[in-house]
Amino acid sequence: MIDADRLKKNWSLVAAHGDQVPLYFYSTLFLTHPETRDLFPMNMAAQRDKLVNALGAVVSNVDTIDAVVPTLQALGRDHRKFGALRGHYPAVGEALVATLEHFSGPHWTPAIAADWVAAYELVAATMADAADAAAHYTPPWWDAEVIGHERRDLETAVITLAPGTRLDYLPGQSVSLCTSLRPRVWRQYSPANAPRPDGTIELHVRSIDGGEVSTALVSLLRVGDTLRVGPATGSGLTLRPGSGPVALIAGGTGVAPLKALVEQLAAAPRPTSLYWGTRSPAGMYCVDQLNALAARYEWLEFVPCVDEDMWGSGVRIGSPAELAVSHGRCIGADIYLCGPFGMVESSRKILVGAGVRSEAIYFEPSGA
Ligand SMILES: Cc1cc2nc3c(=O)[nH]c(=O)nc-3n(C[C@H](O)[C@H](O)[C@H](O)COP(=O)(O)OP(=O)(O)OC[C@H]3O[C@@H](n4cnc5c(N)ncnc54)[C@H](O)[C@@H]3O)c2cc1C
Repeated sequence: MIDADRLKKNWSLVAAHGDQVPLYFYSTLFLTHPETRDLFPMNMAAQRDKLVNALGAVVSNVDTIDAVVPTLQALGRDHRKFGALRGHYPAVGEALVATLEHFSGPHWTPAIAADWVAAYELVAATMADAADAAAHYTPPWWDAEVIGHERRDLETAVITLAPGTRLDYLPGQSVSLCTSLRPRVWRQYSPANAPRPDGTIELHVRSIDGGEVSTALVSLLRVGDTLRVGPATGSGLTLRPGSGPVALIAGGTGVAPLKALVEQLAAAPRPTSLYWGTRSPAGMYCVDQLNALAARYEWLEFVPCVDEDMWGSGVRIGSPAELAVSHGRCIGADIYLCGPFGMVESSRKILVGAGVRSEAIYFEPSGA
């Protein structure tokens, strides 16, 4: 019987050592199993805290593992894109236990060691089994050709992909991408269209200052290049059944998955309001596309808004959530919220403060 409380206490003791923990973990892993180096990006700076912190948190919560089995299975399937094989899991487990032992000092006991090993084996088996099962019916990634690359402004590009094989996804989901410009580094992006008969996918990418992948996708990627696209994931923003009103509230490129929802709603229309906020009118990189959708569908209202309008372009000023509330579009509606983390958090507060039931708010932050 694994003592989960003891594992959690031991993990907080170890995690208190901060950045030293992932440094020790990766050094141990690469020294003892050099073959695993190829699973990770060349530049390990952003990777440092990812794997080991996730492992520590998940494995030490082994008592609630039933609740995260679907997530672990999805992770296992997804990790195939890194080239992770069943044979790599023991190597990672050994490095994890060695790291825990190192930072536990005198608190390390044979009983704690046995609990960590047992908990890790449970997590690893769940992931590896799901990965093996997925290998029978789906590749780890698909190759997709870049058939369109439009710089809409200094920071944003709208990229159109033609996957070699049709990619299944639901509007509101995201896919992970990897470009040979940044080998082995994967990031999530949300298709901005509902699945099309020709299988093409439109992506909206905003370049983040110092961002490894987004800057390459916006500034260096060219038509004719090939990207790797991983399986679609996420259920936060997928359309819930119903016939009542829908309010879509977006910030920046968070509008991409909500545009895909609008296209899905066109098949079974519901009264829909789309509030899209950017910092200034210059950031409204797809306002023409959204205006065109609103002109085409009488059930769709589109309200662009900005934080500031220095040149008096006439766009409404205010946050999209505040405006949607003040226009009475939120009470009784299903609300879908997407944008940078801070925008999603502040919008949820505004909505709940205005009396919207939190169960009616579906969201997915798309930024740090
Ligand atoms: C489910 C999901 C869907 C997403 N969909 C989209 C999308 O459709 N379009 C899109 O442009 N992006 C989207 N993102 C964000 C995207 O995955 C990347 O995080 C983003 O492009 C930055 O990656 P990078 O490699 O350039 O930056 P990194 O090298 O990972 O980060 C560089 C620095 O920037 C910070 N940072 C990372 N992301 C952001 C951010 N969004 N805002 C501010 N600071 C940040 C990091 O903390 C770090 O300090 C989505 C994210 C998720 C989780």
